[in-house]
Amino acid sequence: MLSVTPIPALSDNYIWLMRQDTSPDVCVVDPGDAEPVIRVLEQEGLTLGTILVTHHHPDHTGGLTELIDRYSPQVIGPDNPGIDGLTKRVGKGDTCRVMGRRFDVHEVPGHTLDHIAFFTAGIPPLLFCGDTLFSAGCGRLFEGTPEQMYRSLQILTGLPDDTLVFAAHEYTLANLKFARAADPHNRDVADAIVEAQRARDLDRPTLPSHLAREKRINPFLRCDEPDIRATAAQYGNTDTDQATFTTLRAWKDSF
Ligand code: ZN
Ligand code: FE
Repeated sequence: MLSVTPIPALSDNYIWLMRQDTSPDVCVVDPGDAEPVIRVLEQEGLTLGTILVTHHHPDHTGGLTELIDRYSPQVIGPDNPGIDGLTKRVGKGDTCRVMGRRFDVHEVPGHTLDHIAFFTAGIPPLLFCGDTLFSAGCGRLFEGTPEQMYRSLQILTGLPDDTLVFAAHEYTLANLKFARAADPHNRDVADAIVEAQRARDLDRPTLPSHLAREKRINPFLRCDEPDIRATAAQYGNTDTDQATFTTLRAWKDSF
């Protein structure tokens, strides 16, 4: 059985740890810090076989050098020469085998230009989407355009509804507060706030989320909703779904 658990790191990152109960060889995604990963591996007698990297930011790559020196794993990431230590560079349409599963690579530029996501079909399907899709939110646009991010999110929402969404940050509560402002009559958002608050009070992660659920609560995936368009119209252009997305993203930056 494949299981995925979070290793909290830095201030609000999750380094996702994938393991099979039949093997001590595990995989981590976006190790921004080596120390918490090493601690878990040592405690549980595991070794690191694979690292997946979604994009170049230091809070996703800062632990690479130390983990590579220590465990010599295969390291799969985007085709960005700025990321040291990759053993395999992948892009759109590529696949890789990790933990006995086949992962499809999707290019999802917007947060950064090199951003990729890893998806594996199965029961359930799993998506590691770094800083592209968060629960109730999406990544800030540091390098890409709103058009790129909008298209990237559409690629991700085209995946199966039961896909588990493993985002890289615990931003859910703050995102939901924005969702409440953008989508004020949405009961699912109100319920999600109660649920997320309860989880955080108990120091539990709000992730993973389900793609179907994100389609109900995430305003950035709901730019075709008349209610959201009406709210966003106070902040900018909403002539098309993509324009509504652009306006929402800019509004969220100053929210
Ligand atoms: Zn980032
Ligand atoms: Fe990040």
